[in-house]
Amino acid sequence: MDRKRSSSFESARSAYPEPVSRLIAELSRLPGVGPRSAERLAFHILKGSDDEAAALRAAIGDVKKLIRHCRVCFNLCQDALCAVCEDERRDASVVMVVEQPKDLIALETTGAFRGVYHVLMGRIDPIDGVGPEELTVSSLVDRVEQASQNTRGEAVREVILGMNPTLEGDGTALFLADALKATGVSVTRLARGVPVGGQIELTGRAVLADAIVGRTAMG
Ligand SMILES: [Zn+2]
Repeated sequence: MDRKRSSSFESARSAYPEPVSRLIAELSRLPGVGPRSAERLAFHILKGSDDEAAALRAAIGDVKKLIRHCRVCFNLCQDALCAVCEDERRDASVVMVVEQPKDLIALETTGAFRGVYHVLMGRIDPIDGVGPEELTVSSLVDRVEQASQNTRGEAVREVILGMNPTLEGDGTALFLADALKATGVSVTRLARGVPVGGQIELTGRAVLADAIVGRTAMG
């Protein structure tokens, strides 16, 4: 947006009653929502019924109040353990490491993986200032080193690195392979069925399932 348009937009926005401009300001803080989309969303909410607004408010409130991270794998859940960690049919000796809960969801839809997960909550990205300390790396190493820290207290025999095949994902995978070397655990990486530069969450089920079956040893 050029400066002239931007400033005329700003002055138009400040002409709204304060609660409206505040709603627009809050919405425009969401990722992928620019000021104009925020304005559109605000008017959608304004035009909608009180019930619709209450449902939106309650959904936002509940997600903050009720959702937490699994104490073993950091997946999203409502209880201390997530549904995957609680499922006794899952093989807790195989741990798939993913960047975000949404990657876990994408992998779960394939139905091809029967192990458990570890969600890093991001990836190492030096340009963005994200180092291993900002992620759940030390909890992963603890799970591998001490069976008591893993799902159902089972010893980990394989760690599958399921990072996205991007520069940062590759760097994170190399870092983790190195960090886990001393534990002697088998470390594999998802096969390159996932297109390079692609994203796990956007990859088709069949391709993801192939990537799980065709995983390769690392290091
Ligand atoms: Zn879990």
